[in-house]
Amino acid sequence: MIAYIWLGSNLDDPYQQLDRAIQRIQTEDRIKVLRLSSRIETEPYGYIDQPPFVNQVMEIKTDLNCRSLLHLLQEIEDRMGRTREIHWGPRIIDLDILLADDLTIDEPDLQIPHPELPSRFFVLQLLNELIPDHVHQLWEQSIAELYQTFESTGGEPEFSTPKGED
Ligand code: ADP
Ligand code: MG
Repeated sequence: MIAYIWLGSNLDDPYQQLDRAIQRIQTEDRIKVLRLSSRIETEPYGYIDQPPFVNQVMEIKTDLNCRSLLHLLQEIEDRMGRTREIHWGPRIIDLDILLADDLTIDEPDLQIPHPELPSRFFVLQLLNELIPDHVHQLWEQSIAELYQTFESTGGEPEFSTPKGED
């Protein structure tokens, strides 16, 4: 499958942490890194008394399923020294799966597409560099359209709710 991974860091030289994470992912036999977005800095959300985040999106090809991929990414986070204290608090590295083909997974410990994807401007901005024309069945709009709507309204897009829900 083709999947999109969000990489984020706001501790101990975040740019270097993203480099380290990319290198580790590149050494995985079952993952081929295809493309990388640019990097953008954002102010923290949630717990705001922390440094800005550096964000990037990676396109990969893998024969792993989503659960195995999540497990591998969590192992990389652990090996890089990530600790989990405050939810949305500072982190040395965060590796989340944004999209995987056109799959929809809704389980307690794994949701794909990532539930915050349509409401995070910087995620849409970075995905828009890589797959502007991608239309996920949940949103019925391309990444470029989601991004443009967000840019023009400056807020939460109305269509962030999955089809069939209120
Ligand atoms: P954050 O929500 O800030 O990313 P964590 O990285 O600690 O916090 O992740 C919390 C939990 O989110 C993980 O234990 C994982 O099981 C779950 N999760 C659900 N969907 C995803 C996804 N698409 N990618 C990564 N983690 C996910
Ligand atoms: Mg995470």
